[in-house]
Amino acid sequence: MERVEGEARDILGFQLAMLEDDALAAPAISAIAGGTAAHVAWAGALDGEIAGYEASDDDYFRARAADLHDIRDRVLRHLAGEEDAGATTGSVLLGDDIAPTAFLETDWSAGGAIALQQGSTTSHVAMLARARGIPMVVGLGELPSAITTLAVDGSSGTVQADPDAEQRKHFDAARESHARARASEEQFRFRPATRRTGTRIDILINVAGIAELDHIDPAACDGIGLMRSEFLFRDGAPLPDEETQYRAYRRFVTWGAGKPVTIRTLDIGGDKPVRGLTPDGEANPFLGLRGVRLTLARDDVFRTQLRALARAAVHGNLKVMVPMVTVPDELARSAALLDACVAELTAQGIACARPPLGIMVEVPAVAVVPELFDAAAFFSIGSNDLTQYVTASSRDDARVAALNDPSHPAVLALITKVAKHGREAGIPVSLCGDMASEPRHLAALLEAGLTSLSVAPARIARLKAAIAEL
Ligand code: PEP
Ligand code: MG
Repeated sequence: MERVEGEARDILGFQLAMLEDDALAAPAISAIAGGTAAHVAWAGALDGEIAGYEASDDDYFRARAADLHDIRDRVLRHLAGEEDAGATTGSVLLGDDIAPTAFLETDWSAGGAIALQQGSTTSHVAMLARARGIPMVVGLGELPSAITTLAVDGSSGTVQADPDAEQRKHFDAARESHARARASEEQFRFRPATRRTGTRIDILINVAGIAELDHIDPAACDGIGLMRSEFLFRDGAPLPDEETQYRAYRRFVTWGAGKPVTIRTLDIGGDKPVRGLTPDGEANPFLGLRGVRLTLARDDVFRTQLRALARAAVHGNLKVMVPMVTVPDELARSAALLDACVAELTAQGIACARPPLGIMVEVPAVAVVPELFDAAAFFSIGSNDLTQYVTASSRDDARVAALNDPSHPAVLALITKVAKHGREAGIPVSLCGDMASEPRHLAALLEAGLTSLSVAPARIARLKAAIAEL
C-alpha cells in the first residue's frame, strides 16, 4: 500500500480488511481442527465465499469476488512457501500470460522484463509494456522448468535461459548498442516531426493512466491521441463515480494545456472484461458485447462517463471518441446521449461544454464505407482491432501472430481508403493502433496518406528520428 496510490491502494486496503475479519477464516480453522490439510481447508472456505459473492444481484458484491480470488491465491502461495508474484522489483516475470491489471500493479521503477510462453505483441499488456519501455517477449512456447536466470532482449524478441559468460556478454553488448541508438534519437524529441520533403507529421501519444503523464513532457508531442479510459475501471474495483471520473479526465485535459486530448469512452469487453459489466461466458468476446455496444446497453454507465467528460471539456481541448462503432446509429445514439448530458448539466447549473465526438475506425464495416460516418468529428484508425477483424486472427493468440499482420495489403488498403475519404470530406484522420509505434511500418502509413499518428510515449523520439529520414 505504501508503494501504490489511488484505486490500487483502495483494493489492497479492502483485501487487508477482509483478511483481518475472523469470520472469513473461521470455516477454514475449524476444518483444519478436524484434520483437513490447511491449503485444502482454506481453498474450500474461500471458494464457498466466492460463490456467494458471484451469485449476488448487486454489481458491487459481484465485483468483490475478484478480490477474494486474489486473497485466496495469495494465502495459498504463502502456505506453499512461494513468494508473492511481483514482490521482487526489477525481475523478469515469466509465465503463460499476464493480465493488464497485474502489469499495472507491478513496480517497474527498478526495470524488469516480461517473458511469456503465450501472449501476443498486440495484447493490452504488450501495449502497456511498450508505453513504459519494459522489454517483453511473447510466444516462447514451452520452456525448461528449472530456470534461474533469464536474459530478455525485447528488440530482437529473444530470450536466453541461464546464459553462460559468452551469452551474457552478447546481451550486455546489445543493451549498450540499444542505449546508444536511443541516446542519439533524443535530439529529435522536442522537434516537430518532419519528413525530408518538409511534410509535417503530428505525433500524439496513447496513454492509459494518469501516473504515466508524470514521465512525459507535453512539449514532446502534439497532444493525446488516445486515452484508454477503461483502465480507470479496474476489474474488481468499484465503478468510479462521476466526480472521480471528472477529476481524472480534468487532469489529462489540463496536462495537454490547449493541445488536443482525445479520451475514448469505455472499451471494455473483449480482452478487457470488467466483472459486473461484461457478460460471462461469451463464446467469442472480441465479437461480442464490447465498447460502444456495451455502453449503449448500459445507459447508466455511459451517462456517468459522458457527464464527467462534458464537465472536463471546459478545462481545455478535449475530444471524445467512441470505440467499436459498426453502424452509423451507434454514433448517432452516442451523440444524442452526449447532447442530453450537456443539456442536463446546463439545466443543473454545472459548468460543461460539448466536446467534438469522433469514432475509432477499427471494425471493417466502417473502414470499407467510411462515407457513411461523416457525422463523426474525426476518425482514429484502430489498427490493432482492424487487423484482427480483417485477417480473422486473434490479437492475443501467439499461434496466429504471423497472420495478425497490420501490413497485410488488405489492412493497408483500408487505411488508405479511410485517409483518402477523410481528406476529401474534411474529416481529420489519425491512427492510434500499435503499428504507429513501429518504425518499420512508418513508410507504409505515410504512403497511405496519414499525417497524424498516436504512439506509445516511449517511442516519440525514435519515431521522429525515423520520420526525419523518410
Ligand atoms: C486499436 O484497436 O487499434 C486500438 C487502438 O484500440 P485497443 O488497442 O484499445 O483495442
Ligand atoms: Mg481497439
